Amino acid sequence: MVLAEGVSKSFGSNQVLKSISLEVRRGEVMCLLGPSGSGKSTFLRCINHLEVLSAGRLSVDGELIGFREVGGKLYEMHPREAARQRRDIGMVFQRFNLFPHMTAVENVMEAPVLVKGQPKAQVRQRALELLDRVGLAERADYYPAHLSGGQQQRVAIARALAMEPKLMLFDEPTSALDPELVGEVLDVMKGLASSGMTMIVVTHEMGFAREVADELVFMDGGVVVESGDPREVLSNPKHERTQAFLSKVL
Ligand code: ATP
Ligand code: MG
Repeated sequence: MVLAEGVSKSFGSNQVLKSISLEVRRGEVMCLLGPSGSGKSTFLRCINHLEVLSAGRLSVDGELIGFREVGGKLYEMHPREAARQRRDIGMVFQRFNLFPHMTAVENVMEAPVLVKGQPKAQVRQRALELLDRVGLAERADYYPAHLSGGQQQRVAIARALAMEPKLMLFDEPTSALDPELVGEVLDVMKGLASSGMTMIVVTHEMGFAREVADELVFMDGGVVVESGDPREVLSNPKHERTQAFLSKVL
């Protein structure tokens, strides 16, 4: 589903990603872990072409992201085309970024109505189903300001799902939450994983990684240092840098 081959990204002279190669199969969950500045967010942003790769190639569901290949050469896509690709990739951030002047259900409806031009009544029905799925059927008409952080994040997940993505990217979705609200968001993500969604999750929630991820990838300094079965990586890290990092977070 996601294939990264030699993905590199530089900002000026700062090479942030150094030839990352990895694969996530359909229905799999990959957790990405690594110290601050190791390039995790940049890698996620490359997957939906919010950042343009400096080298390498990335494909989602067999489709090259952000570029067209003509005669063996890659040409960057028109932004409109990249935006079309991005619609199939849901993203959830640390900060929920809900529209403050819209209720929960209106937030979930916004993109399908605006971008896909689907009829409102149908979109609303589906949005209510999605809110129910994230346990917020009763909060559909609340404004974000009247929802807890965990509830807002669950609305953000429902909003991403409303576009019927093939792939969901999560960038530290629980790290801005009070500890008692983390569980409800992780539970929704677990449900999503068991429904067969392909997911890449940047998280420091080791319990989640251990329980849900098919693969755990440890990044440091823009390279994949170590990857494998999460139980194996967490209990028996092979690389010294992984050991040092885990000894701090576990
Ligand atoms: P954190 O755990 O703190 O979120 P991260 O692993 O997500 O860290 P990134 O946000 O991907 O790390 O950043 C990796 C490096 O890329 C950092 O050195 C950062 O300063 C740099 N960087 C990221 N975005 C940009 C940008 N738009 N312009 C310049 N440098 C950037
Ligand atoms: Mg980050």
